[in-house]
Amino acid sequence: MTKTTFTDLGLDKNILRAIDDAGYEHPTEIQEKAIPSILMMKDVIGIAQTGTGKTASFTLPMIEVLQGGIAKARMPRALVLTPTRELAAQVAENIEKYAKYLSLTHALIVGGVQANDQIAKLERGVDILIATPGRLLDLHERGNVLLRDIKFLVIDEADRMLDMGFIPDIEKIISLLPPLRQNLLFSATMPKPIQKLAEKLMDNPKTIEVAKRSSTTKNVSQYLIMLSRSIQKKEQLIHYIQKLEVESAFIFCNRKRDIDGYADALMKSGVKVGALHGDMSQNMRTDTLKKFKEGNIRVLVCSDVAARGIDISNVGHVFNMDLPLNAEDYVHRIGRTGRAGKTGEAYSFVCLKDDEKYLDAIEKLTDQTIERINAKPVKSPKVQSKTASSPSKDVKKRSSSNQNERDDTPTPVGFGNEMPAFMAIDR
Ligand code: AMP
Repeated sequence: MTKTTFTDLGLDKNILRAIDDAGYEHPTEIQEKAIPSILMMKDVIGIAQTGTGKTASFTLPMIEVLQGGIAKARMPRALVLTPTRELAAQVAENIEKYAKYLSLTHALIVGGVQANDQIAKLERGVDILIATPGRLLDLHERGNVLLRDIKFLVIDEADRMLDMGFIPDIEKIISLLPPLRQNLLFSATMPKPIQKLAEKLMDNPKTIEVAKRSSTTKNVSQYLIMLSRSIQKKEQLIHYIQKLEVESAFIFCNRKRDIDGYADALMKSGVKVGALHGDMSQNMRTDTLKKFKEGNIRVLVCSDVAARGIDISNVGHVFNMDLPLNAEDYVHRIGRTGRAGKTGEAYSFVCLKDDEKYLDAIEKLTDQTIERINAKPVKSPKVQSKTASSPSKDVKKRSSSNQNERDDTPTPVGFGNEMPAFMAIDR
Protein backbone atom coordinates (compact mmCIF):
# COMPACT_ATOMS: atom_id res chain seq x y z
CA MET A 1 0.00 0.00 0.00
CA THR A 2 1.41 3.44 -0.90
CA LYS A 3 1.73 5.92 1.91
CA THR A 4 -0.28 9.15 1.86
CA THR A 5 1.70 12.27 0.99
CA PHE A 6 1.07 15.87 2.06
CA THR A 7 0.15 16.65 -1.57
CA ASP A 8 -2.66 14.05 -1.32
CA LEU A 9 -4.12 16.03 1.59
CA GLY A 10 -4.86 19.03 -0.63
CA LEU A 11 -2.47 21.60 0.82
CA ASP A 12 -1.27 24.67 -1.08
CA LYS A 13 2.13 24.53 -2.84
CA ASN A 14 3.65 27.22 -0.60
CA ILE A 15 2.72 25.16 2.44
CA LEU A 16 4.05 21.99 0.81
CA ARG A 17 7.34 23.81 0.23
CA ALA A 18 7.58 24.69 3.92
CA ILE A 19 6.75 21.08 4.90
CA ASP A 20 9.49 19.95 2.58
CA ASP A 21 11.94 22.38 4.23
CA ALA A 22 10.94 20.91 7.61
CA GLY A 23 12.02 17.52 6.26
CA TYR A 24 8.68 15.75 6.81
CA GLU A 25 8.16 12.94 4.35
CA HIS A 26 4.67 11.74 5.21
CA PRO A 27 1.81 13.02 7.32
CA THR A 28 1.42 11.43 10.75
CA GLU A 29 -1.81 9.57 11.53
CA ILE A 30 -3.55 12.55 13.12
CA GLN A 31 -2.48 14.78 10.23
CA GLU A 32 -3.70 12.31 7.64
CA LYS A 33 -7.06 12.02 9.36
CA ALA A 34 -7.64 15.61 10.48
CA ILE A 35 -6.30 17.80 7.66
CA PRO A 36 -8.84 16.84 4.92
CA SER A 37 -11.79 17.32 7.31
CA ILE A 38 -10.51 20.69 8.53
CA LEU A 39 -10.00 21.80 4.93
CA MET A 40 -13.65 20.85 4.29
CA MET A 41 -14.52 23.33 7.06
CA LYS A 42 -15.76 20.65 9.43
CA ASP A 43 -15.58 20.92 13.21
CA VAL A 44 -13.06 18.39 14.51
CA ILE A 45 -12.34 16.78 17.88
CA GLY A 46 -8.81 15.36 17.90
CA ILE A 47 -8.00 12.92 20.67
CA ALA A 48 -4.21 12.97 20.52
CA GLN A 49 -1.23 13.75 22.68
CA THR A 50 1.86 15.83 22.02
CA GLY A 51 4.40 13.93 19.97
CA THR A 52 1.78 12.69 17.50
CA GLY A 53 2.16 15.69 15.19
CA LYS A 54 -1.10 17.20 16.39
CA THR A 55 0.11 20.82 16.25
CA ALA A 56 0.77 20.59 12.52
CA SER A 57 -2.56 18.77 12.11
CA PHE A 58 -4.35 22.01 12.93
CA THR A 59 -1.81 24.70 11.98
CA LEU A 60 -1.35 23.41 8.41
CA PRO A 61 -5.05 23.51 7.41
CA MET A 62 -5.60 26.66 9.48
CA ILE A 63 -3.02 28.65 7.49
CA GLU A 64 -4.41 27.17 4.27
CA VAL A 65 -7.93 28.36 5.16
CA LEU A 66 -6.74 31.80 6.27
CA GLN A 67 -4.35 32.65 3.46
CA GLY A 68 -5.47 35.43 1.20
CA GLY A 69 -7.71 37.12 3.79
CA ILE A 70 -6.97 40.43 5.50
CA ALA A 71 -6.93 41.09 9.25
CA LYS A 72 -8.30 44.35 10.59
CA ALA A 73 -6.78 46.24 13.51
CA ARG A 74 -7.43 44.49 16.84
CA MET A 75 -9.60 41.89 15.07
CA PRO A 76 -7.78 38.59 14.58
CA ARG A 77 -9.37 35.99 12.29
CA ALA A 78 -8.25 32.83 14.08
CA LEU A 79 -7.78 32.07 17.76
CA VAL A 80 -5.69 29.25 19.24
CA LEU A 81 -6.14 28.79 22.98
CA THR A 82 -3.48 26.85 24.89
CA PRO A 83 -3.17 26.12 28.62
CA THR A 84 0.44 27.27 29.03
CA ARG A 85 2.76 29.92 27.69
CA GLU A 86 5.26 27.31 26.51
CA LEU A 87 2.63 25.56 24.42
CA ALA A 88 1.50 28.89 23.00
CA ALA A 89 5.11 29.60 22.02
CA GLN A 90 5.35 26.19 20.36
CA VAL A 91 2.21 26.81 18.31
CA ALA A 92 3.70 30.16 17.23
CA GLU A 93 6.92 28.39 16.20
CA ASN A 94 4.88 25.91 14.16
CA ILE A 95 3.06 28.74 12.40
CA GLU A 96 6.35 30.48 11.62
CA LYS A 97 7.73 27.25 10.21
CA TYR A 98 4.76 26.29 8.03
CA ALA A 99 3.60 29.77 6.93
CA LYS A 100 7.01 31.10 5.96
CA TYR A 101 6.02 31.37 2.28
CA LEU A 102 2.64 32.94 3.06
CA SER A 103 1.92 36.48 4.18
CA LEU A 104 0.08 35.69 7.40
CA THR A 105 0.70 37.45 10.70
CA HIS A 106 0.32 36.12 14.21
CA ALA A 107 0.62 37.38 17.78
CA LEU A 108 1.19 35.65 21.06
CA ILE A 109 -0.89 36.80 24.02
CA VAL A 110 0.43 35.15 27.17
CA GLY A 111 0.70 36.14 30.80
CA GLY A 112 3.92 36.79 32.65
CA VAL A 113 5.43 39.13 30.07
CA GLN A 114 4.91 42.83 29.32
CA ALA A 115 1.73 43.36 27.29
CA ASN A 116 2.90 46.45 25.35
CA ASP A 117 4.46 44.68 22.39
CA GLN A 118 1.51 42.33 22.17
CA ILE A 119 -0.92 45.27 22.14
CA ALA A 120 1.09 47.11 19.46
CA LYS A 121 1.01 44.00 17.26
CA LEU A 122 -2.75 43.63 17.72
CA GLU A 123 -3.19 47.30 16.79
CA ARG A 124 -1.51 46.64 13.45
CA GLY A 125 -3.83 43.68 12.82
CA VAL A 126 -2.97 39.98 13.05
CA ASP A 127 -4.46 36.95 11.31
CA ILE A 128 -3.84 34.39 14.05
CA LEU A 129 -3.92 35.02 17.76
CA ILE A 130 -2.37 32.40 20.02
CA ALA A 131 -3.32 32.97 23.63
CA THR A 132 -3.60 31.64 27.13
CA PRO A 133 -7.13 32.26 28.43
CA GLY A 134 -6.38 34.65 31.34
CA ARG A 135 -4.27 37.16 29.43
CA LEU A 136 -6.68 37.13 26.48
CA LEU A 137 -9.61 38.03 28.74
CA ASP A 138 -7.52 40.81 30.36
CA LEU A 139 -6.70 42.38 27.02
CA HIS A 140 -10.26 41.95 25.82
CA GLU A 141 -11.62 43.70 28.90
CA ARG A 142 -9.23 46.58 28.26
CA GLY A 143 -10.45 46.83 24.67
CA ASN A 144 -7.08 45.89 23.15
CA VAL A 145 -8.51 42.95 21.25
CA LEU A 146 -11.92 42.33 19.67
CA LEU A 147 -13.06 38.78 19.01
CA ARG A 148 -16.00 39.33 16.68
CA ASP A 149 -14.06 38.49 13.53
CA ILE A 150 -12.85 35.04 14.72
CA LYS A 151 -13.79 32.46 12.09
CA PHE A 152 -11.51 29.69 13.28
CA LEU A 153 -11.15 28.54 16.89
CA VAL A 154 -8.69 25.93 18.20
CA ILE A 155 -8.71 24.74 21.79
CA ASP A 156 -5.47 22.84 22.35
CA GLU A 157 -4.86 20.39 25.22
CA ALA A 158 -8.40 20.82 26.51
CA ASP A 159 -7.94 18.28 29.33
CA ARG A 160 -5.07 20.31 30.72
CA MET A 161 -7.23 23.42 30.49
CA LEU A 162 -9.66 21.55 32.72
CA ASP A 163 -6.91 20.51 35.19
CA MET A 164 -5.76 24.09 35.40
CA GLY A 165 -9.27 25.46 36.04
CA PHE A 166 -9.57 27.33 32.73
CA ILE A 167 -12.98 26.03 31.60
CA PRO A 168 -14.97 29.04 32.91
CA ASP A 169 -12.53 31.39 31.12
CA ILE A 170 -12.90 29.38 27.93
CA GLU A 171 -16.69 29.50 28.15
CA LYS A 172 -16.47 33.27 28.61
CA ILE A 173 -14.18 33.58 25.57
CA ILE A 174 -16.54 31.42 23.47
CA SER A 175 -19.46 33.70 24.41
CA LEU A 176 -17.52 36.61 22.85
CA LEU A 177 -17.04 34.89 19.48
CA PRO A 178 -19.36 35.18 16.47
CA PRO A 179 -21.67 32.14 16.08
CA LEU A 180 -20.56 31.27 12.56
CA ARG A 181 -17.10 29.76 12.82
CA GLN A 182 -15.12 26.53 12.56
CA ASN A 183 -14.14 24.85 15.84
CA LEU A 184 -11.35 22.41 16.61
CA LEU A 185 -10.68 20.84 19.97
CA PHE A 186 -7.63 18.74 20.83
CA SER A 187 -7.26 16.74 23.99
CA ALA A 188 -5.25 13.71 25.13
CA THR A 189 -8.26 12.39 27.06
CA MET A 190 -11.97 13.22 27.00
CA PRO A 191 -13.21 13.59 30.58
CA LYS A 192 -16.92 14.45 31.05
CA PRO A 193 -16.54 18.24 31.35
CA ILE A 194 -14.57 18.31 28.07
CA GLN A 195 -17.21 16.19 26.33
CA LYS A 196 -19.81 18.67 27.55
CA LEU A 197 -17.75 21.61 26.35
CA ALA A 198 -17.35 19.95 22.94
CA GLU A 199 -21.11 19.32 22.68
CA LYS A 200 -21.86 22.97 23.41
CA LEU A 201 -19.16 24.26 21.14
CA MET A 202 -19.38 22.09 18.06
CA ASP A 203 -21.68 21.47 15.21
CA ASN A 204 -21.74 17.81 14.12
CA PRO A 205 -18.02 17.32 14.75
CA LYS A 206 -15.82 14.62 13.31
CA THR A 207 -13.97 12.79 16.09
CA ILE A 208 -10.49 11.52 15.32
CA GLU A 209 -8.59 9.41 17.83
CA VAL A 210 -4.98 8.33 17.45
CA ALA A 211 -2.91 5.89 19.49
CA LYS A 212 -2.21 6.98 23.03
CA ARG A 213 1.34 7.73 24.05
CA SER A 214 1.27 4.76 26.44
CA SER A 215 1.38 2.51 23.41
CA THR A 216 3.82 4.61 21.42
CA THR A 217 6.93 4.61 23.61
CA LYS A 218 8.55 1.78 21.69
CA ASN A 219 11.62 3.85 20.91
CA VAL A 220 12.34 4.68 24.57
CA SER A 221 14.33 2.03 26.49
CA GLN A 222 13.23 2.13 30.10
CA TYR A 223 15.12 1.11 33.24
CA LEU A 224 14.50 1.20 36.97
CA ILE A 225 17.47 1.85 39.21
CA MET A 226 16.54 -0.02 42.37
CA LEU A 227 17.66 1.59 45.62
CA SER A 228 17.22 -0.14 48.97
CA ARG A 229 16.54 3.22 50.61
CA SER A 230 15.75 6.65 49.18
CA ILE A 231 19.25 7.95 49.83
CA GLN A 232 22.22 8.79 47.65
CA LYS A 233 20.03 9.84 44.76
CA LYS A 234 22.20 12.85 43.94
CA GLU A 235 25.35 10.73 43.86
CA GLN A 236 23.61 8.07 41.79
CA LEU A 237 22.31 10.65 39.34
CA ILE A 238 25.74 12.17 38.78
CA HIS A 239 27.20 8.70 38.45
CA TYR A 240 24.72 7.74 35.73
CA ILE A 241 25.03 11.03 33.89
CA GLN A 242 28.75 10.38 33.65
CA LYS A 243 28.54 6.68 32.86
CA LEU A 244 25.92 7.07 30.17
CA GLU A 245 27.76 10.04 28.67
CA VAL A 246 24.52 11.97 28.74
CA GLU A 247 24.41 14.76 26.18
CA SER A 248 20.99 16.15 26.91
CA ALA A 249 18.43 15.16 29.54
CA PHE A 250 15.31 16.04 31.43
CA ILE A 251 15.44 15.26 35.17
CA PHE A 252 12.06 15.09 36.81
CA CYS A 253 11.34 15.67 40.49
CA ASN A 254 8.02 15.29 42.25
CA ARG A 255 8.65 18.17 44.64
CA LYS A 256 9.52 21.68 43.57
CA ARG A 257 11.81 22.07 46.57
CA ASP A 258 14.03 19.20 45.36
CA ILE A 259 14.66 20.79 41.96
CA ASP A 260 17.22 23.29 43.21
CA GLY A 261 19.03 20.65 45.27
CA TYR A 262 19.62 18.39 42.26
CA ALA A 263 20.49 21.34 40.04
CA ASP A 264 23.07 22.55 42.60
CA ALA A 265 24.63 19.10 42.89
CA LEU A 266 24.88 18.76 39.12
CA MET A 267 26.32 22.22 38.73
CA LYS A 268 28.99 21.43 41.34
CA SER A 269 29.89 18.31 39.42
CA GLY A 270 30.49 20.43 36.33
CA VAL A 271 27.32 19.71 34.36
CA LYS A 272 25.70 22.56 32.42
CA VAL A 273 22.38 22.54 34.19
CA GLY A 274 19.19 24.60 34.32
CA ALA A 275 16.07 24.44 36.46
CA LEU A 276 12.48 24.84 35.32
CA HIS A 277 9.55 25.16 37.69
CA GLY A 278 6.33 27.07 38.08
CA ASP A 279 7.72 29.68 40.49
CA MET A 280 10.10 31.12 37.93
CA SER A 281 9.26 34.29 36.03
CA GLN A 282 8.14 33.81 32.44
CA ASN A 283 11.27 35.50 31.12
CA MET A 284 13.44 33.09 33.08
CA ARG A 285 11.45 30.09 31.84
CA THR A 286 11.65 31.20 28.23
CA ASP A 287 15.36 31.96 28.55
CA THR A 288 16.11 28.59 30.18
CA LEU A 289 14.20 26.71 27.49
CA LYS A 290 16.01 28.64 24.77
CA LYS A 291 19.38 27.74 26.31
CA PHE A 292 18.32 24.12 26.57
CA LYS A 293 17.18 24.03 22.95
CA GLU A 294 20.44 25.63 21.83
CA GLY A 295 22.53 23.21 23.90
CA ASN A 296 23.93 25.83 26.29
CA ILE A 297 22.14 23.96 29.05
CA ARG A 298 22.46 20.20 28.71
CA VAL A 299 20.44 18.98 31.62
CA LEU A 300 17.13 20.46 32.73
CA VAL A 301 15.85 19.68 36.22
CA CYS A 302 12.11 20.23 36.25
CA SER A 303 8.62 19.55 37.56
CA ASP A 304 5.84 17.86 35.57
CA VAL A 305 3.87 21.04 35.07
CA ALA A 306 6.87 23.00 33.79
CA ALA A 307 7.87 20.34 31.27
CA ARG A 308 4.52 19.17 29.89
CA GLY A 309 4.15 19.53 26.19
CA ILE A 310 7.64 20.92 25.65
CA ASP A 311 8.80 19.74 22.26
CA ILE A 312 12.56 19.42 22.00
CA SER A 313 13.46 16.67 19.63
CA ASN A 314 17.06 15.76 20.47
CA VAL A 315 16.88 14.87 24.16
CA GLY A 316 18.52 11.47 24.67
CA HIS A 317 17.73 10.77 28.32
CA VAL A 318 15.06 11.22 30.94
CA PHE A 319 15.72 10.62 34.65
CA ASN A 320 12.94 10.32 37.19
CA MET A 321 14.35 11.14 40.59
CA ASP A 322 11.02 9.94 42.03
CA LEU A 323 8.34 7.90 40.35
CA PRO A 324 5.41 10.17 39.56
CA LEU A 325 2.32 9.64 41.72
CA ASN A 326 0.19 9.55 38.61
CA ALA A 327 1.06 6.83 36.08
CA GLU A 328 0.01 9.04 33.13
CA ASP A 329 2.74 11.49 34.16
CA TYR A 330 5.32 8.71 33.74
CA VAL A 331 4.22 8.36 30.13
CA HIS A 332 4.41 12.13 29.62
CA ARG A 333 7.85 12.29 31.23
CA ILE A 334 9.51 9.53 29.26
CA GLY A 335 7.90 10.92 26.11
CA ARG A 336 10.28 13.91 26.40
CA THR A 337 12.86 11.61 24.80
CA GLY A 338 12.63 9.30 21.79
CA ARG A 339 10.86 12.02 19.81
CA ALA A 340 10.57 12.54 16.08
CA GLY A 341 11.73 9.02 15.21
CA LYS A 342 14.84 9.10 17.45
CA THR A 343 15.61 6.65 20.26
CA GLY A 344 15.92 7.55 23.91
CA GLU A 345 16.51 6.09 27.38
CA ALA A 346 14.53 6.68 30.55
CA TYR A 347 15.92 5.84 34.01
CA SER A 348 13.80 5.98 37.16
CA PHE A 349 15.14 5.80 40.70
CA VAL A 350 12.93 3.46 42.68
CA CYS A 351 12.84 2.45 46.31
CA LEU A 352 10.29 -0.38 46.42
CA LYS A 353 9.45 0.28 50.05
CA ASP A 354 8.08 3.72 49.10
CA ASP A 355 7.26 3.35 45.43
CA GLU A 356 5.77 -0.10 44.89
CA LYS A 357 2.21 1.02 44.32
CA TYR A 358 3.25 3.76 41.87
CA LEU A 359 5.42 1.31 40.01
CA ASP A 360 2.57 -1.20 39.79
CA ALA A 361 0.30 1.46 38.34
CA ILE A 362 2.91 2.47 35.74
CA GLU A 363 3.60 -1.08 34.66
CA LYS A 364 -0.12 -1.74 34.42
CA LEU A 365 -0.82 1.37 32.35
CA THR A 366 2.08 0.78 29.99
CA ASP A 367 1.51 -2.97 29.94
CA GLN A 368 5.16 -3.88 30.45
CA THR A 369 7.70 -4.98 33.05
CA ILE A 370 10.45 -2.42 33.16
CA GLU A 371 14.00 -3.69 33.36
CA ARG A 372 15.55 -3.45 36.86
CA ILE A 373 19.12 -2.42 37.64
CA ASN A 374 20.29 -2.92 41.24
CA ALA A 375 22.13 0.23 42.30
CA LYS A 376 25.37 -0.12 44.21
CA PRO A 377 26.66 2.60 46.51
CA VAL A 378 28.72 5.24 44.75
CA LYS A 379 31.28 7.52 46.35
CA SER A 380 30.26 11.08 47.00
CA PRO A 381 31.07 13.28 44.01
CA LYS A 382 32.67 15.74 46.44
CA VAL A 383 35.67 13.41 46.48
CA GLN A 384 36.89 14.51 43.08
CA SER A 385 40.03 12.90 41.81
CA LYS A 386 42.21 14.40 39.15
CA THR A 387 43.25 10.96 38.03
CA ALA A 388 39.77 9.51 37.68
CA SER A 389 39.31 7.53 34.52
CA SER A 390 36.89 8.59 31.85
CA PRO A 391 33.31 7.37 32.22
CA SER A 392 32.91 3.72 31.41
CA LYS A 393 30.44 2.57 28.84
CA ASP A 394 29.44 -0.66 30.55
CA VAL A 395 25.95 0.54 31.49
CA LYS A 396 25.44 1.76 27.97
CA LYS A 397 26.48 -1.57 26.55
CA ARG A 398 24.22 -3.47 28.87
CA SER A 399 21.26 -1.27 27.93
CA SER A 400 20.65 -3.51 25.00
CA SER A 401 20.57 -6.71 27.06
CA ASN A 402 17.28 -8.47 27.52
CA GLN A 403 17.70 -9.52 31.13
CA ASN A 404 15.04 -8.21 33.41
CA GLU A 405 17.23 -7.79 36.46
CA ARG A 406 20.82 -6.72 36.43
CA ASP A 407 23.60 -5.41 38.62
CA ASP A 408 25.40 -2.16 38.23
CA THR A 409 29.10 -2.03 39.00
CA PRO A 410 30.04 0.53 41.64
CA THR A 411 32.24 3.15 40.06
CA PRO A 412 33.77 6.09 41.92
CA VAL A 413 32.50 9.32 40.51
CA GLY A 414 35.27 11.70 39.61
CA PHE A 415 35.63 14.02 36.73
CA GLY A 416 39.33 14.66 36.29
CA ASN A 417 40.01 16.21 32.92
CA GLU A 418 36.58 15.26 31.64
CA MET A 419 34.86 18.13 33.44
CA PRO A 420 32.61 20.06 31.07
CA ALA A 421 32.46 23.86 31.12
CA PHE A 422 30.86 25.30 34.22
CA MET A 423 27.64 27.16 33.99
CA ALA A 424 25.53 28.85 36.62
CA ILE A 425 22.11 27.46 37.38
CA ASP A 426 19.48 29.36 35.51
CA ARG A 427 16.62 30.21 37.80
P1 AMP B 1 3.47 17.66 18.22
O1 AMP B 1 2.70 16.39 18.44
O2 AMP B 1 2.70 18.69 17.52
O3 AMP B 1 4.05 18.14 19.55
O4 AMP B 1 4.73 17.33 17.26
C1 AMP B 1 5.77 16.48 17.64
C2 AMP B 1 7.00 16.61 16.74
O5 AMP B 1 6.80 15.95 15.50
C3 AMP B 1 7.42 18.03 16.40
O6 AMP B 1 8.82 18.13 16.59
C4 AMP B 1 7.10 18.19 14.93
O7 AMP B 1 7.99 19.08 14.30
C5 AMP B 1 7.26 16.78 14.43
N1 AMP B 1 6.40 16.47 13.28
C6 AMP B 1 5.14 16.91 13.04
N2 AMP B 1 4.65 16.37 11.91
C7 AMP B 1 5.61 15.59 11.39
C8 AMP B 1 5.71 14.77 10.23
N3 AMP B 1 4.69 14.65 9.39
N4 AMP B 1 6.86 14.08 10.02
C9 AMP B 1 7.88 14.19 10.89
N5 AMP B 1 7.87 14.94 12.01
C10 AMP B 1 6.74 15.64 12.27
